[in-house]
Amino acid sequence: MSDNTRPPRGDLSPSSAKQFAECPQRFWFRKRARLKPGTDPSDADDKRPYQFAGIHCHRVLELAAIQAANDRAASGELRAPFTARELLDISEELPINNVDESELADARGVLSSIAPVDLSRAVAAEMQAIWHPYGEGNEPSVAMVMDRIDVDPRSGLVEVTDYKYGMARDRSELASDPQTLYYLAAVHEAWPRSEEVRRWRITYHYLAPNVKVTIDWTPLLDRLARQHVKTIWRQVLGDEFPAHIGRHCGYCPYQNRCEEWTAHVDALAKAETLPGAKLAKGNWGDLAWLLETREGLKATQKQCEGAVKRIDGVIKKRMDRGRPIKAGGFKAQMRLSKRADFDVAALPVLARESGLGIDEVVLEVGSLGAQKVKAFAERHNCREALSPFETRKAVKWLEVKRAGV
Ligand code: SF4
Repeated sequence: MSDNTRPPRGDLSPSSAKQFAECPQRFWFRKRARLKPGTDPSDADDKRPYQFAGIHCHRVLELAAIQAANDRAASGELRAPFTARELLDISEELPINNVDESELADARGVLSSIAPVDLSRAVAAEMQAIWHPYGEGNEPSVAMVMDRIDVDPRSGLVEVTDYKYGMARDRSELASDPQTLYYLAAVHEAWPRSEEVRRWRITYHYLAPNVKVTIDWTPLLDRLARQHVKTIWRQVLGDEFPAHIGRHCGYCPYQNRCEEWTAHVDALAKAETLPGAKLAKGNWGDLAWLLETREGLKATQKQCEGAVKRIDGVIKKRMDRGRPIKAGGFKAQMRLSKRADFDVAALPVLARESGLGIDEVVLEVGSLGAQKVKAFAERHNCREALSPFETRKAVKWLEVKRAGV
């Protein structure tokens, strides 16, 4: 197993392909011109807690997988699943510098909540892979680092697991994500069909809510993966890197280099700063205007959200161990809410109880948000069958009010 986390080099990666789809110019800045992103001093502060917990959990699970594989090689036996205590022992042995106690506690809380973790079939962790959609030696190549690979000769399953630290995404959305397509194509190529290999799968393990979403390899997904690469590469070879203004601009680190973005912001600042003013002057019969205006407003909205997030990060750091603070007539404090959610395993139950196909359920429900799932269950009279799949998650958030309100 590799203990080297340096990513392999390829012409594309799942994240760069995704960035290309959003905005080819951003891809050009990063991959072709190799320009350094613009820096903002508050960025590092905002990202640190999230990044630390995610990186720490990844590292612990990587070391646990290596340990499981070594144990199996030494004894010939499958190792028992890792308990919370065993995962925490690994965590405690890792060097930790400059990290707030609460950040470490968050990461360790997540590790405890996902135990027991079965790693008995792990054969690789942090595996560096290069996929050649058109055969070795032909451009483009796609580089990726897979968090974990399990191979089970009894069931013939090769499974790549990707750990995530954010909110779980819908299965239907994940099925068309370049990461899903490329990872499945790569494991299918690396472990071709044999007596011991008959199925290939990707599992996204969302650690914080401890939700798993699995997608199996199919010939259709394999074709889509190659088609996806082909479409991007044709544009790359044709030197086509247009700027696509959209909501993703709010997170783009190349805003300060992007002329289109500067022109977009200037135009808004000149005459149409207020969305109301823009809408009042707009041509509501012109579909192109409606679409362009919508995307432009979304981009600005995202930029504002990004700015608020940065400010929140700095305010949180000014709170002594989360204690409320007051300044300029405002009071800021951390709040805790419980949010209901549903495990993706609820989908087959909804399908069975409603008599619909899973795809129809996904279309009707739209997401696994509590309100939509509950409304669906009420409509189809299957609320009771659903309760075992309801999960509750504690969410911390910053509340800012005028003092005394
Ligand atoms: S600011 Fe927007 S349009 Fe400009 S490069 Fe970034 S993502 Fe593309």
